[in-house]
Amino acid sequence: MTDLFENYTSPWMNDELTMLRDAARKFFTSELAPEQERWEANGLVDRDAWTKTGAAGFLLAEMPVEYGGAGGDYRHETVIMEEQLRSGASGLGTQVHSQIVAPYFRHYGNEDQRQRWLPGMAAGTKVGAIAMTEPNTGSDLQSIRTTAIRDGDEFVINGSKTYISNGQHCDLVIVVAKTDPSQGAKGISLIVVEGATEGFSKGRNLKKLGQAAADTSELFFEDCRVPAENLVGEEGKGFVQLMQQLPQERLNIAQAAVVDMERAITLTLEFVKERKAFGQRVLDFQNTKFKLAECKTEALIARTFVDQCLIKHLAGELDASTASMAKYWCTDKQNQIIDTCLQLHGGAGYMDEYPISRMYKDARVQSIYGGTNEIMKELISRTL
Ligand SMILES: Cc1cc2nc3c(=O)[nH]c(=O)nc-3n(C[C@H](O)[C@H](O)[C@H](O)COP(=O)(O)OP(=O)(O)OC[C@H]3O[C@@H](n4cnc5c(N)ncnc54)[C@H](O)[C@@H]3O)c2cc1C
Repeated sequence: MTDLFENYTSPWMNDELTMLRDAARKFFTSELAPEQERWEANGLVDRDAWTKTGAAGFLLAEMPVEYGGAGGDYRHETVIMEEQLRSGASGLGTQVHSQIVAPYFRHYGNEDQRQRWLPGMAAGTKVGAIAMTEPNTGSDLQSIRTTAIRDGDEFVINGSKTYISNGQHCDLVIVVAKTDPSQGAKGISLIVVEGATEGFSKGRNLKKLGQAAADTSELFFEDCRVPAENLVGEEGKGFVQLMQQLPQERLNIAQAAVVDMERAITLTLEFVKERKAFGQRVLDFQNTKFKLAECKTEALIARTFVDQCLIKHLAGELDASTASMAKYWCTDKQNQIIDTCLQLHGGAGYMDEYPISRMYKDARVQSIYGGTNEIMKELISRTL
């Protein structure tokens, strides 16, 4: 894949990160991408894809070395994610695992919890998930019904979750539950449930419009007892912790959207340079050139914006509203650009064997998960 922007380099890149990019590109392209089609047919990645990726050093890149991580920062995570998505090996749920779940242990977990969970997550022997959404509530997180009631040295969890990424493969899941159901947001806590705990069961691997290789599941908790030391951070502070971590999750989704825009445009350029109609290349029609000129312009605008967000995030200054702008605008643009690119493929764009067709299906959820784009606009509008 050629780089789309000949005169633009992200200001946060350096030689070390370029080396990491080359290594990640090689790994994902040669080791995982060839498996993606089979994984899509199975609705699940192979379990050993996790350990392979861990052994290659591409999980938990920003975690300190003492917890099995690579001792990098969010730039390292970004470079690895970009190369995974560019390779097309999108099935492995590394974004949730490395960039959403692991940071909760780092920021709010105690030393014992970090030692218990992070090294396994870095090695890929423990797959992480986070369960907020329930059958009756998603956007309105304060209304969750799952409870975790203290009983001596244990919490007893009851309730069900749905649409949980990594839900089939997960070995540990951060469950968002009410430890005090009489309180709204102030009664919410984060509690880890490990795979083999009695009373915890995994439901169906849900069939989806796109992202066919990524497992997404229902999870059930029936008098599920976990030790009180599985509470992550303070009791009753779960909602605050979630709100603190969501800007990174939203930036991450926006960054993934930008990689996808760039990939779609690059793939389309390759196609329209080869495809002929009316005695000329499809690229030579003014409509094609103008459409792709618009797409390339918008992708560069998106790229420069998420780069600025990343720099702010590294400095600890990325606020919820700016992260929401990035998430909503980039994912909407991603869907529009991929739609335009698919149209320029003609009938081929509708065929599964062309990656643009799968990208179209995979992208649709980007404006829904991680907080819907309507919720993003709600958050932005609070700053008006
Ligand atoms: C593939 C996939 C993977 C997912 N992975 C996870 C995961 O790993 N963990 C997890 O916890 N969840 C996960 N989710 C769930 C996801 O985060 C939710 O689906 C999302 O937050 C929306 O919640 P909902 O589905 O309940 O929709 P609802 O909240 O019911 O929303 C329905 C519609 O109402 C709109 N709406 C709601 N409130 C407002 C408002 N105040 N103002 C304006 N409009 C509003 C929404 O924008 C939407 O258009 C995943 C979902 C999918 C599809």
